[in-house]
Amino acid sequence: MNAAVRTQVAIVGAGPAGLVLSHLLAEAGIASVVIDSRSREEIESTIRAGILEQGTVDLLAGIPGSRVHSVGSRHDGIELRFDGAGHRIDFTGLAGRSVWLFPQHEALRDLIAARVASGQDLRFGWTATAIEGADGERPRVIATDDAGGALAIEADFVVGADGSRSVVRRAISGSHDGFFREYPFGWFGILCEAPPSADELIYSNSPDGFALISQRSPTVQRMYFQCDPDADADAMSDAQIWDALQTRVPGHALIEGPIFQRDVLRLRSFVARTLRQGRLAIVGDAAHTVPPTGAKGMNLAVADVVLLARALEELLLRSDAHLIDAWADAALDRIWKAQHFSWWMTSMLHVAPGATEFDRRRQLGELRTVASSEAGRTYLAEGYTGWPLG
Ligand SMILES: Cc1cc2nc3c(=O)[nH]c(=O)nc-3n(C[C@H](O)[C@H](O)[C@H](O)COP(=O)(O)OP(=O)(O)OC[C@H]3O[C@@H](n4cnc5c(N)ncnc54)[C@H](O)[C@@H]3O)c2cc1C
Repeated sequence: MNAAVRTQVAIVGAGPAGLVLSHLLAEAGIASVVIDSRSREEIESTIRAGILEQGTVDLLAGIPGSRVHSVGSRHDGIELRFDGAGHRIDFTGLAGRSVWLFPQHEALRDLIAARVASGQDLRFGWTATAIEGADGERPRVIATDDAGGALAIEADFVVGADGSRSVVRRAISGSHDGFFREYPFGWFGILCEAPPSADELIYSNSPDGFALISQRSPTVQRMYFQCDPDADADAMSDAQIWDALQTRVPGHALIEGPIFQRDVLRLRSFVARTLRQGRLAIVGDAAHTVPPTGAKGMNLAVADVVLLARALEELLLRSDAHLIDAWADAALDRIWKAQHFSWWMTSMLHVAPGATEFDRRRQLGELRTVASSEAGRTYLAEGYTGWPLG
Protein backbone atom coordinates (compact mmCIF):
# COMPACT_ATOMS: atom_id res chain seq x y z
CA MET A 1 0.00 0.00 0.00
CA ASN A 2 1.36 3.44 -0.88
CA ALA A 3 0.65 6.40 1.40
CA ALA A 4 1.60 10.07 1.49
CA VAL A 5 1.57 12.41 4.46
CA ARG A 6 2.36 16.07 4.82
CA THR A 7 3.95 17.63 7.90
CA GLN A 8 6.13 20.55 8.95
CA VAL A 9 9.20 18.51 9.95
CA ALA A 10 9.98 14.94 8.88
CA ILE A 11 12.41 13.26 11.27
CA VAL A 12 14.23 10.07 10.26
CA GLY A 13 15.29 8.14 13.37
CA ALA A 14 13.69 7.69 16.80
CA GLY A 15 16.92 7.69 18.80
CA PRO A 16 17.76 10.39 21.34
CA ALA A 17 18.30 13.07 18.65
CA GLY A 18 15.06 12.45 16.75
CA LEU A 19 12.83 11.99 19.78
CA VAL A 20 14.17 14.99 21.74
CA LEU A 21 13.82 17.14 18.62
CA SER A 22 10.22 16.02 18.09
CA HIS A 23 9.46 16.86 21.72
CA LEU A 24 10.99 20.37 21.48
CA LEU A 25 9.15 21.05 18.22
CA ALA A 26 5.82 19.93 19.72
CA GLU A 27 6.40 22.30 22.64
CA ALA A 28 6.84 25.11 20.11
CA GLY A 29 3.64 24.11 18.26
CA ILE A 30 5.42 22.57 15.25
CA ALA A 31 4.07 19.28 13.85
CA SER A 32 6.46 16.48 12.99
CA VAL A 33 6.39 12.87 11.78
CA VAL A 34 9.08 10.55 13.20
CA ILE A 35 9.91 7.23 11.54
CA ASP A 36 12.33 4.51 12.62
CA SER A 37 13.28 1.29 10.88
CA ARG A 38 13.34 -0.64 14.18
CA SER A 39 10.45 -1.80 16.35
CA ARG A 40 9.56 -0.04 19.59
CA GLU A 41 10.68 -3.12 21.58
CA GLU A 42 14.08 -3.15 19.89
CA ILE A 43 14.67 0.56 20.48
CA GLU A 44 13.62 0.27 24.12
CA SER A 45 15.96 -2.64 24.83
CA THR A 46 19.22 -1.67 23.06
CA ILE A 47 21.91 -0.93 25.66
CA ARG A 48 24.09 2.06 24.77
CA ALA A 49 24.83 5.31 26.58
CA GLY A 50 24.63 5.66 30.31
CA ILE A 51 26.20 8.94 31.38
CA LEU A 52 24.21 12.11 30.87
CA GLU A 53 25.44 15.66 31.33
CA GLN A 54 23.60 18.00 33.68
CA GLY A 55 22.09 19.96 30.74
CA THR A 56 20.74 16.78 29.11
CA VAL A 57 19.21 15.68 32.43
CA ASP A 58 17.58 19.08 33.04
CA LEU A 59 16.00 18.88 29.57
CA LEU A 60 14.80 15.27 29.98
CA ALA A 61 13.36 16.10 33.41
CA GLY A 62 10.95 18.54 31.71
CA ILE A 63 9.36 15.79 29.60
CA PRO A 64 6.02 14.57 31.03
CA GLY A 65 6.49 11.25 32.86
CA SER A 66 10.30 11.45 32.82
CA ARG A 67 11.96 9.05 35.28
CA VAL A 68 15.42 10.56 34.98
CA HIS A 69 15.44 11.73 38.60
CA SER A 70 13.67 8.66 40.04
CA VAL A 71 15.51 5.89 38.11
CA GLY A 72 18.74 7.75 37.33
CA SER A 73 21.43 8.40 39.90
CA ARG A 74 23.50 11.56 40.32
CA HIS A 75 27.28 11.27 40.28
CA ASP A 76 29.25 14.18 41.69
CA GLY A 77 32.64 12.90 40.60
CA ILE A 78 34.73 10.11 39.09
CA GLU A 79 37.92 8.36 40.06
CA LEU A 80 40.91 8.77 37.75
CA ARG A 81 43.18 5.80 38.43
CA PHE A 82 46.78 5.28 37.34
CA ASP A 83 50.03 3.97 38.80
CA GLY A 84 47.96 1.83 41.19
CA ALA A 85 46.29 4.78 42.96
CA GLY A 86 42.93 6.56 42.64
CA HIS A 87 42.44 10.34 42.36
CA ARG A 88 38.94 11.80 42.76
CA ILE A 89 37.73 14.44 40.30
CA ASP A 90 35.12 16.38 42.28
CA PHE A 91 32.68 17.65 39.64
CA THR A 92 30.45 19.74 41.88
CA GLY A 93 33.38 21.34 43.70
CA LEU A 94 35.31 22.07 40.50
CA ALA A 95 32.60 22.78 37.89
CA GLY A 96 29.41 23.27 39.93
CA ARG A 97 27.69 20.50 37.93
CA SER A 98 27.15 16.73 38.09
CA VAL A 99 26.47 13.90 35.65
CA TRP A 100 23.72 11.29 35.89
CA LEU A 101 23.73 7.58 35.23
CA PHE A 102 20.49 6.96 33.33
CA PRO A 103 20.61 4.31 30.60
CA GLN A 104 19.83 5.60 27.10
CA HIS A 105 17.10 2.99 26.55
CA GLU A 106 15.30 4.17 29.69
CA ALA A 107 15.39 7.75 28.37
CA LEU A 108 14.02 6.49 25.04
CA ARG A 109 11.22 4.63 26.84
CA ASP A 110 10.18 7.92 28.48
CA LEU A 111 10.41 9.91 25.25
CA ILE A 112 8.40 7.34 23.26
CA ALA A 113 5.74 7.08 25.99
CA ALA A 114 5.36 10.87 26.11
CA ARG A 115 5.01 11.13 22.33
CA VAL A 116 2.49 8.28 22.14
CA ALA A 117 0.49 9.69 25.10
CA SER A 118 0.18 13.08 23.39
CA GLY A 119 -1.08 11.45 20.18
CA GLN A 120 1.82 12.57 17.98
CA ASP A 121 2.89 10.78 14.82
CA LEU A 122 5.61 8.17 15.51
CA ARG A 123 5.94 5.19 13.14
CA PHE A 124 8.08 2.14 13.86
CA GLY A 125 9.21 -0.34 11.21
CA TRP A 126 9.60 2.27 8.45
CA THR A 127 13.00 2.59 6.75
CA ALA A 128 13.88 5.77 4.85
CA THR A 129 15.43 4.75 1.55
CA ALA A 130 15.79 8.09 -0.23
CA ILE A 131 15.29 11.83 0.06
CA GLU A 132 13.62 13.47 -2.93
CA GLY A 133 13.46 17.17 -3.76
CA ALA A 134 16.48 17.86 -1.55
CA ASP A 135 17.17 21.19 -3.28
CA GLY A 136 13.62 22.49 -3.11
CA GLU A 137 11.16 23.96 -0.61
CA ARG A 138 9.30 20.66 -0.07
CA PRO A 139 11.74 17.79 0.45
CA ARG A 140 10.26 14.28 0.72
CA VAL A 141 11.33 11.24 2.72
CA ILE A 142 10.62 8.00 0.87
CA ALA A 143 10.25 5.02 3.21
CA THR A 144 9.31 1.36 3.02
CA ASP A 145 8.20 -1.22 5.56
CA ASP A 146 8.73 -4.98 5.81
CA ALA A 147 5.31 -5.70 4.34
CA GLY A 148 6.26 -3.93 1.10
CA GLY A 149 4.37 -0.73 1.89
CA ALA A 150 5.67 2.63 0.70
CA LEU A 151 5.36 5.97 2.43
CA ALA A 152 6.19 9.48 1.20
CA ILE A 153 6.49 12.19 3.84
CA GLU A 154 6.47 15.70 2.37
CA ALA A 155 7.75 18.34 4.76
CA ASP A 156 8.93 21.93 5.11
CA PHE A 157 12.15 20.53 6.57
CA VAL A 158 13.74 17.07 6.80
CA VAL A 159 16.04 16.10 9.70
CA GLY A 160 18.33 13.07 9.56
CA ALA A 161 18.59 11.72 13.11
CA ASP A 162 19.31 8.31 11.61
CA GLY A 163 22.61 7.39 13.25
CA SER A 164 26.03 6.67 11.87
CA ARG A 165 24.85 5.02 8.62
CA SER A 166 22.61 7.97 7.81
CA VAL A 167 20.59 7.98 4.59
CA VAL A 168 19.95 11.70 4.97
CA ARG A 169 23.71 12.40 5.21
CA ARG A 170 24.10 10.69 1.86
CA ALA A 171 21.53 13.10 0.38
CA ILE A 172 23.42 16.09 1.79
CA SER A 173 27.06 15.35 1.22
CA GLY A 174 27.72 11.72 0.38
CA SER A 175 28.18 9.03 3.05
CA HIS A 176 31.79 9.54 4.02
CA ASP A 177 32.48 13.17 3.22
CA GLY A 178 33.98 14.44 6.45
CA PHE A 179 36.80 14.20 8.93
CA PHE A 180 37.55 10.70 10.21
CA ARG A 181 39.85 8.98 12.67
CA GLU A 182 39.91 5.30 13.65
CA TYR A 183 41.68 4.26 16.87
CA PRO A 184 43.93 1.19 16.98
CA PHE A 185 42.01 -0.31 19.93
CA GLY A 186 38.43 -1.12 20.86
CA TRP A 187 36.33 -1.64 23.99
CA PHE A 188 35.28 -5.05 25.28
CA GLY A 189 32.05 -4.30 27.18
CA ILE A 190 30.18 -6.52 29.62
CA LEU A 191 27.00 -6.42 31.64
CA CYS A 192 27.14 -8.58 34.76
CA GLU A 193 25.01 -9.46 37.75
CA ALA A 194 26.93 -8.15 40.73
CA PRO A 195 26.81 -5.37 43.30
CA PRO A 196 28.74 -2.18 42.38
CA SER A 197 32.52 -2.43 42.65
CA ALA A 198 32.72 1.29 43.46
CA ASP A 199 30.36 4.16 44.32
CA GLU A 200 31.57 6.28 41.38
CA LEU A 201 32.89 5.48 37.89
CA ILE A 202 36.55 4.50 37.70
CA TYR A 203 38.57 5.53 34.62
CA SER A 204 41.71 3.43 34.93
CA ASN A 205 44.99 3.53 33.04
CA SER A 206 47.40 0.63 33.52
CA PRO A 207 50.42 -0.80 31.66
CA ASP A 208 47.97 -3.36 30.16
CA GLY A 209 45.59 -0.69 28.89
CA PHE A 210 42.40 1.11 29.87
CA ALA A 211 39.33 -0.02 31.86
CA LEU A 212 36.10 1.72 32.79
CA ILE A 213 34.20 0.46 35.82
CA SER A 214 30.67 1.79 35.58
CA GLN A 215 27.40 1.02 37.35
CA ARG A 216 23.88 0.29 36.14
CA SER A 217 21.86 -0.56 39.23
CA PRO A 218 22.41 -2.11 42.67
CA THR A 219 22.47 -5.56 41.00
CA VAL A 220 23.73 -4.97 37.42
CA GLN A 221 27.10 -3.46 36.45
CA ARG A 222 28.61 -2.25 33.16
CA MET A 223 32.37 -2.58 32.66
CA TYR A 224 34.72 -2.14 29.71
CA PHE A 225 38.36 -2.89 29.01
CA GLN A 226 40.63 -1.95 26.12
CA CYS A 227 40.96 -4.70 23.52
CA ASP A 228 41.93 -5.39 19.92
CA PRO A 229 39.20 -3.80 17.74
CA ASP A 230 38.94 -7.10 15.82
CA ALA A 231 38.58 -9.23 18.98
CA ASP A 232 35.84 -11.87 19.01
CA ALA A 233 33.59 -11.19 22.00
CA ASP A 234 32.73 -14.89 22.33
CA ALA A 235 36.33 -16.10 22.30
CA MET A 236 37.08 -15.25 25.95
CA SER A 237 35.87 -17.23 28.96
CA ASP A 238 34.29 -15.37 31.89
CA ALA A 239 37.44 -16.05 33.94
CA GLN A 240 39.64 -14.51 31.22
CA ILE A 241 37.38 -11.44 31.07
CA TRP A 242 37.54 -10.91 34.84
CA ASP A 243 41.30 -11.35 34.74
CA ALA A 244 41.61 -8.76 31.93
CA LEU A 245 39.45 -6.31 33.86
CA GLN A 246 41.22 -6.83 37.17
CA THR A 247 44.73 -6.36 35.74
CA ARG A 248 43.62 -3.05 34.22
CA VAL A 249 42.40 -1.72 37.60
CA PRO A 250 45.40 -2.60 39.79
CA GLY A 251 44.94 -1.96 43.49
CA HIS A 252 41.12 -2.05 43.38
CA ALA A 253 39.31 -5.38 43.86
CA LEU A 254 36.36 -5.81 41.50
CA ILE A 255 33.25 -7.70 42.62
CA GLU A 256 32.66 -10.46 40.06
CA GLY A 257 29.36 -11.98 38.96
CA PRO A 258 27.73 -13.81 36.03
CA ILE A 259 28.31 -12.02 32.70
CA PHE A 260 25.08 -11.90 30.67
CA GLN A 261 26.04 -9.57 27.80
CA ARG A 262 29.32 -8.92 26.03
CA ASP A 263 30.28 -6.93 22.93
CA VAL A 264 33.27 -5.37 21.19
CA LEU A 265 33.03 -1.73 20.13
CA ARG A 266 35.32 -0.01 17.63
CA LEU A 267 36.46 3.52 18.57
CA ARG A 268 36.04 6.21 15.93
CA SER A 269 35.88 9.97 15.56
CA PHE A 270 33.95 11.49 12.65
CA VAL A 271 32.47 14.88 11.74
CA ALA A 272 30.53 15.30 8.50
CA ARG A 273 31.75 18.12 6.30
CA THR A 274 28.23 19.49 5.69
CA LEU A 275 25.53 19.44 8.37
CA ARG A 276 22.84 21.31 6.47
CA GLN A 277 21.90 21.89 2.90
CA GLY A 278 18.78 23.96 2.18
CA ARG A 279 15.90 22.28 3.99
CA LEU A 280 17.82 19.17 5.07
CA ALA A 281 19.96 18.81 8.21
CA ILE A 282 21.71 15.96 10.03
CA VAL A 283 22.06 15.73 13.81
CA GLY A 284 23.50 13.37 16.43
CA ASP A 285 25.46 10.32 15.26
CA ALA A 286 24.38 11.02 11.67
CA ALA A 287 26.54 14.16 11.83
CA HIS A 288 29.34 12.99 14.10
CA THR A 289 30.78 10.08 16.07
CA VAL A 290 32.97 10.25 19.15
CA PRO A 291 34.80 7.48 21.00
CA PRO A 292 32.78 6.74 24.16
CA THR A 293 35.60 7.62 26.58
CA GLY A 294 34.28 11.16 27.12
CA ALA A 295 30.59 10.03 27.33
CA LYS A 296 29.64 12.67 24.80
CA GLY A 297 27.66 10.99 21.95
CA MET A 298 24.10 11.19 23.24
CA ASN A 299 24.78 14.48 24.99
CA LEU A 300 26.04 15.98 21.76
CA ALA A 301 22.95 14.71 19.92
CA VAL A 302 20.76 16.54 22.43
CA ALA A 303 22.85 19.73 22.13
CA ASP A 304 22.50 19.67 18.30
CA VAL A 305 18.72 19.47 18.44
CA VAL A 306 18.30 22.11 21.13
CA LEU A 307 19.91 24.58 18.72
CA LEU A 308 18.07 23.18 15.71
CA ALA A 309 14.64 23.36 17.37
CA ARG A 310 15.13 27.09 18.00
CA ALA A 311 16.28 27.65 14.42
CA LEU A 312 13.29 25.72 13.01
CA GLU A 313 10.92 27.70 15.23
CA GLU A 314 12.21 30.94 13.68
CA LEU A 315 12.14 29.51 10.17
CA LEU A 316 8.77 27.78 10.22
CA LEU A 317 6.75 30.03 12.53
CA ARG A 318 8.25 33.43 11.70
CA SER A 319 9.79 32.88 8.24
CA ASP A 320 13.13 34.08 9.65
CA ALA A 321 16.15 32.14 8.32
CA HIS A 322 18.94 33.83 10.27
CA LEU A 323 19.19 31.09 12.95
CA ILE A 324 18.99 28.20 10.50
CA ASP A 325 21.70 29.84 8.39
CA ALA A 326 23.91 30.08 11.50
CA TRP A 327 22.93 26.65 12.92
CA ALA A 328 25.68 24.43 11.46
CA ASP A 329 28.48 26.73 12.64
CA ALA A 330 26.88 27.05 16.09
CA ALA A 331 26.52 23.25 16.39
CA LEU A 332 30.07 22.65 15.10
CA ASP A 333 31.50 24.87 17.82
CA ARG A 334 30.39 22.36 20.48
CA ILE A 335 30.94 19.31 18.24
CA TRP A 336 34.65 20.09 17.83
CA LYS A 337 35.05 20.85 21.54
CA ALA A 338 33.49 17.47 22.29
CA GLN A 339 35.65 15.82 19.62
CA HIS A 340 38.74 17.24 21.27
CA PHE A 341 37.62 16.23 24.78
CA SER A 342 36.78 12.67 23.65
CA TRP A 343 40.09 12.32 21.79
CA TRP A 344 41.99 13.73 24.81
CA MET A 345 40.38 11.34 27.30
CA THR A 346 40.94 8.44 24.89
CA SER A 347 44.61 9.13 24.22
CA MET A 348 45.37 9.98 27.85
CA LEU A 349 43.91 6.73 29.18
CA HIS A 350 44.56 4.02 26.54
CA VAL A 351 47.87 2.36 25.75
CA ALA A 352 48.38 2.41 21.97
CA PRO A 353 49.79 -0.77 20.38
CA GLY A 354 53.52 -0.28 19.92
CA ALA A 355 53.74 2.45 22.58
CA THR A 356 57.35 2.98 23.59
CA GLU A 357 58.74 3.42 27.10
CA PHE A 358 58.91 7.16 26.32
CA ASP A 359 55.19 7.18 25.38
CA ARG A 360 54.30 5.39 28.61
CA ARG A 361 56.29 7.73 30.86
CA ARG A 362 54.94 10.80 29.03
CA GLN A 363 51.38 9.51 29.51
CA LEU A 364 51.91 9.06 33.25
CA GLY A 365 53.37 12.59 33.35
CA GLU A 366 50.16 13.87 31.74
CA LEU A 367 47.92 11.96 34.16
CA ARG A 368 49.91 13.25 37.15
CA THR A 369 49.66 16.81 35.81
CA VAL A 370 45.86 16.55 35.50
CA ALA A 371 45.33 14.87 38.88
CA SER A 372 47.71 17.07 40.89
CA SER A 373 46.64 20.48 39.57
CA GLU A 374 43.31 22.16 40.29
CA ALA A 375 43.40 23.64 36.77
CA GLY A 376 43.85 20.13 35.31
CA ARG A 377 41.04 18.60 37.36
CA THR A 378 38.75 21.55 36.55
CA TYR A 379 39.41 21.17 32.82
CA LEU A 380 38.38 17.50 33.02
CA ALA A 381 35.34 18.27 35.23
CA GLU A 382 34.06 21.05 32.92
CA GLY A 383 34.40 18.93 29.79
CA TYR A 384 32.91 15.79 31.33
CA THR A 385 29.88 17.47 32.91
CA GLY A 386 29.29 19.42 29.67
CA TRP A 387 29.27 23.02 28.63
CA PRO A 388 25.97 24.97 28.96
CA LEU A 389 23.38 24.03 26.30
CA GLY A 390 22.65 26.50 23.52
C1 LIG B 1 28.78 1.25 24.29
C2 LIG B 1 28.37 2.68 24.12
C3 LIG B 1 28.41 3.54 25.21
C4 LIG B 1 28.03 4.86 25.07
N1 LIG B 1 28.06 5.68 26.18
C5 LIG B 1 27.64 6.96 26.06
C6 LIG B 1 27.52 7.79 27.21
O1 LIG B 1 27.79 7.36 28.34
N2 LIG B 1 27.09 9.08 27.05
C7 LIG B 1 26.75 9.55 25.81
O2 LIG B 1 26.35 10.73 25.71
N3 LIG B 1 26.82 8.78 24.70
C8 LIG B 1 27.25 7.50 24.79
N4 LIG B 1 27.25 6.69 23.70
C9 LIG B 1 26.86 7.24 22.38
C10 LIG B 1 25.34 7.28 22.19
O3 LIG B 1 24.77 6.00 22.43
C11 LIG B 1 25.01 7.76 20.76
O4 LIG B 1 25.79 8.88 20.48
C12 LIG B 1 23.53 8.10 20.61
O5 LIG B 1 22.76 6.92 20.50
C13 LIG B 1 23.29 8.95 19.35
O6 LIG B 1 21.91 9.19 19.24
P1 LIG B 1 21.25 9.44 17.81
O7 LIG B 1 19.80 9.68 18.06
O8 LIG B 1 22.01 10.46 17.07
O9 LIG B 1 21.48 8.09 16.98
P2 LIG B 1 20.98 6.60 17.27
O10 LIG B 1 20.81 6.37 18.73
O11 LIG B 1 21.90 5.72 16.51
O12 LIG B 1 19.52 6.54 16.63
C14 LIG B 1 19.34 6.51 15.24
C15 LIG B 1 18.00 5.85 14.96
O13 LIG B 1 17.75 5.94 13.55
C16 LIG B 1 17.20 4.71 13.09
N5 LIG B 1 17.52 4.61 11.65
C17 LIG B 1 18.74 4.46 11.08
N6 LIG B 1 18.64 4.45 9.74
C18 LIG B 1 17.32 4.61 9.46
C19 LIG B 1 16.57 4.70 8.25
N7 LIG B 1 17.18 4.63 7.05
N8 LIG B 1 15.23 4.86 8.33
C20 LIG B 1 14.59 4.95 9.53
N9 LIG B 1 15.26 4.87 10.71
C21 LIG B 1 16.60 4.72 10.68
C22 LIG B 1 17.87 3.65 13.94
O14 LIG B 1 17.09 2.48 14.01
C23 LIG B 1 17.97 4.36 15.30
O15 LIG B 1 16.88 4.08 16.16
C24 LIG B 1 27.61 5.35 23.81
C25 LIG B 1 27.57 4.49 22.70
C26 LIG B 1 27.93 3.16 22.85
C27 LIG B 1 27.84 2.26 21.67
